[in-house]
Amino acid sequence: MQMHDHRRLGRELGLFDTDPLIGAGLPYWLPDGAIVRHTLEEYIRGAERRAGYRHVYSPVLGKRELYEISGHWSHYSDDMFPPMDLGGEQVVLRPSLCPHHALIYRSRAHSYRELPLRMAELGGMYRSELSGVLGGLTRVRAIQLNDAHIFCTLDQVADEAAGALSMIRRAYRALGVRPSRYRLSLPGAGGKYVAAPEMWARATALLTEVLDASGLAYETAEGEAAFYGPKIDVQVADSAGREATLSTVQIDFHQPERFDLHYIGPDGARHRPVMVHRSIIGSVERAAAHLIEQHGGAFPAWLAPTQLVVLPVSDAEMPQARDLLRRCDEPGLRAEVAGPEHGSLGARVRAARLVPYQLVIGAREAARDEVAPRLRDGRRLDALPVAEMLARVRALVGAHSTDLWDDAAGNAPIREE
Ligand SMILES: [Zn+2]
Repeated sequence: MQMHDHRRLGRELGLFDTDPLIGAGLPYWLPDGAIVRHTLEEYIRGAERRAGYRHVYSPVLGKRELYEISGHWSHYSDDMFPPMDLGGEQVVLRPSLCPHHALIYRSRAHSYRELPLRMAELGGMYRSELSGVLGGLTRVRAIQLNDAHIFCTLDQVADEAAGALSMIRRAYRALGVRPSRYRLSLPGAGGKYVAAPEMWARATALLTEVLDASGLAYETAEGEAAFYGPKIDVQVADSAGREATLSTVQIDFHQPERFDLHYIGPDGARHRPVMVHRSIIGSVERAAAHLIEQHGGAFPAWLAPTQLVVLPVSDAEMPQARDLLRRCDEPGLRAEVAGPEHGSLGARVRAARLVPYQLVIGAREAARDEVAPRLRDGRRLDALPVAEMLARVRALVGAHSTDLWDDAAGNAPIREE
């Protein structure tokens, strides 16, 4: 499979860019890139809502003391920005969302009946990457993380971790992402990890149980765990063959202890919940970089910045083309018109090569309220009514399909070009 350099494509396709005056590792998103990002975020929020997650917002700053309690200060400070002095106290750009979510959990009393309590946020966090390793969207200093924390009983941990793994696999199908491997990430030598051997052993046993039950092939890797616990990592490869973690599921006994979290059990006594940290697509930046490289800019139709381009053969069909553009609004489809002022029909088809659907309107189609569709992969369909075309595209987009056409839906024979 040929992969593409997302930095070059991102600039060529007008998805994102950087400016030395903003700084290294701080990319901005251009309008078409912002559509991809927004669509991706909405997909994730919808999947999380359906899986019983509730969304929160929390600030990107916190007091230094918060990270001293969480353990980030002693185990993770190399990756954190220096603290800012502010009126006699110090605040820090957060290196993760977990401490904020632990405090949100702690702000209310919880009964065992509320568990598992699934708290999600697509939130900002910061990492003081060295400038030498920064590039495009894969290594950035300002990160938008698809994050969630599940507060649950020990008995619920395996099911929750397995549920998160299923969500990851579903999202990969919708996005057309192929993982390079699944990894059970364990601690290594050195003082980077919190010392609690029994806790590590129990969390590792639970994750092993989840991976074995999933039927997935996986490898174990020492020295790749989070400082507070082991994790399942889903790895993807970039255009240069370098591997990175996109998605993760982690079991954590450490932070519930540190933040003194509890719930009231059926016995009326206080019990400690477990935290499952999980991310379906990891950071929005790395996910977008991977999607650009994997698809070469030809995103699945539901994610494409422009889903349909309308191509009137001559000026005479411009009224029908404009009318068709308006009719795309109702089902929420993103369309553009490329009229004859943009060149020959052939040139316009080539210019729109990444757009999933190219709808040609000649005199015959205009008279019958039809379009002659071409698919991005080179297939051409017989002319069909505009209403049917839009309904079929809407169905595929709504299903987050990676197929350009539902052949089984019939009545539009396909010719290979
Ligand atoms: Zn977390």
